[in-house]
Amino acid sequence: MHEKRSTADQTNQWLHYWMQQLVIKHPVRLERASIWSVTDRNGRRGCSLVGVVVDTEGARIIHTRRLTEEDIVHELLHVAHPHWSEEAVVAETARLLKPRPRHRRAARSTETENTPARVEC
Ligand SMILES: [Zn+2]
Repeated sequence: MHEKRSTADQTNQWLHYWMQQLVIKHPVRLERASIWSVTDRNGRRGCSLVGVVVDTEGARIIHTRRLTEEDIVHELLHVAHPHWSEEAVVAETARLLKPRPRHRRAARSTETENTPARVEC
């Protein structure tokens, strides 16, 4: 009885796959944050955020919305290449995901919500 994978299983599958691909040795944890704990530059609450924090214990990907595979690759690239510019990370994320057409099916949410803008790390 194999049921449809839960969102968390799918996210962890992407995480493990891309950690292998990018040869990341740090432990990486996913941390769900409430949108009410996030403020934007003007101090308004309720912003969505996807970002990564790297400390001596490893990396934490902090997210307030459901992660896509693109989010995972993007944040892991920040971990693997801490000195890369945001533009370099965005470009490499696109390059890595492009030749894998299954990504489109897997990463697209069926919901019609607008994906909120990333609050950058
Ligand atoms: Zn970034």
